[in-house]
Amino acid sequence: MAKQYDVIVIGAGPGGMTAALYASRANLSVLMLDRGIYGGQMNNTAAIENYPGFSSVMGPDLAEDMYKGSTQFGAEYAYGSVESVEDHGATKVVTTDTETYETKAVVIATGSEYRKLGVPGEETYGGRGVSYCAVCDGAFFKGREVIVVGGGDSAVEEGLYLTQLASKVTVIHRRDQLRAQKVIQDRAFANEKMNFVWNSNVEEILGDDKKVTGVKVKNNQTGEETTIDASGVFIYVGILPKTEQFTNLGITDKTGWIEANDHMETKVPGIFAIGDVRVKDLRQITTAVGDGGIAGQQVFKYIESLADNGAAVK
Ligand code: FAD
Ligand code: NAP
Repeated sequence: MAKQYDVIVIGAGPGGMTAALYASRANLSVLMLDRGIYGGQMNNTAAIENYPGFSSVMGPDLAEDMYKGSTQFGAEYAYGSVESVEDHGATKVVTTDTETYETKAVVIATGSEYRKLGVPGEETYGGRGVSYCAVCDGAFFKGREVIVVGGGDSAVEEGLYLTQLASKVTVIHRRDQLRAQKVIQDRAFANEKMNFVWNSNVEEILGDDKKVTGVKVKNNQTGEETTIDASGVFIYVGILPKTEQFTNLGITDKTGWIEANDHMETKVPGIFAIGDVRVKDLRQITTAVGDGGIAGQQVFKYIESLADNGAAVK
């Protein structure tokens, strides 16, 4: 028989953990499922300086503290890569790679994943100099020169983190202006280990039979092609929603992000979406946490309304 819960939260990043905290504190039975370690993208972040209560905190440390808080009222956490969610009205069926669950409500908090650059050499040198996580792999490049591709918050902030390890960090951006927040830009321009190559696209990641040796770059204004030597290439060119398992529910927009209202309700009653996976302007830990609090409360109201209507999990 399928295991039963009042609420299943899919994804244990900051959004999911907060939803689990609120729902379990409202005395609902809650299961958080994650296909990785709890903490989500916070585990890939070095110093977080914009989460209230901390002047600066390491991402994995904040993840650990949030996890302790989110499970203190009885919410359970389990490994599970969710493969599908079926809507049967008052009952939803959540299937993972190993289990099937029945639940009254589902909170989708699966976040986003990095976008690939899609150039020759990216796959070949994955794990051999090409990385998407400075916190995870930066230490391999101590005293060496590295390249960061992208111009957003992730590229510039993680580039700054890499200056503590690498001898030189070269940011290659396709425009002549960064997208990153001004405070991060100012810090980057003031750091003597940071260098910028503007109006340029990485055409290929170069290497020998073992590892990355550099990149081939083309200036998109002049057409000039150059080679920049480096031992590592960190790619931060944006994010994509992790929603392919939910397309059957008809809750995503044409680019795959989930549409939810101010109550975090999707168009399917009993299915909520929070955090980065939603269509929203500001994808941050604070906004994921805010969404999670709202969803935890709304799930409670939704389940009360089911009880009022005499429905029960079958
Ligand atoms: P996520 O943190 O992405 O968590 C989603 C979870 O869902 C993951 O654990 C994943 O394993 C799980 N999951 C996905 N699919 C499935 C599935 N099918 N089955 C089971 N589990 C699944 N924000 C800030 O406020 N400050 C910062 O300094 C900051 N730095 C950042 C640095 C980088 C490099 C990046 C990439 C982002 C940064 N952000 C920062 C943004 C912030 O990390 C995100 O906005 C936030 O983590 C979103 O939380 P979330 O709970 O929505 O999703
Ligand atoms: P992003 O904001 O979408 O920035 C992606 C960057 O990559 C942009 O500069 C973009 O260039 C560039 N890019 C996109 N496709 C490219 C391609 N094919 N080739 C070359 N360059 C390409 O993504 P992000 O920086 O990963 O940030 C994701 C979210 O997390 C954002 O909401 C961000 O605010 C948040 N975040 C916050 C913090 C923080 O608060 N400290 C830190 C990290 C991330 P253009 O500028 O020309 O479009």
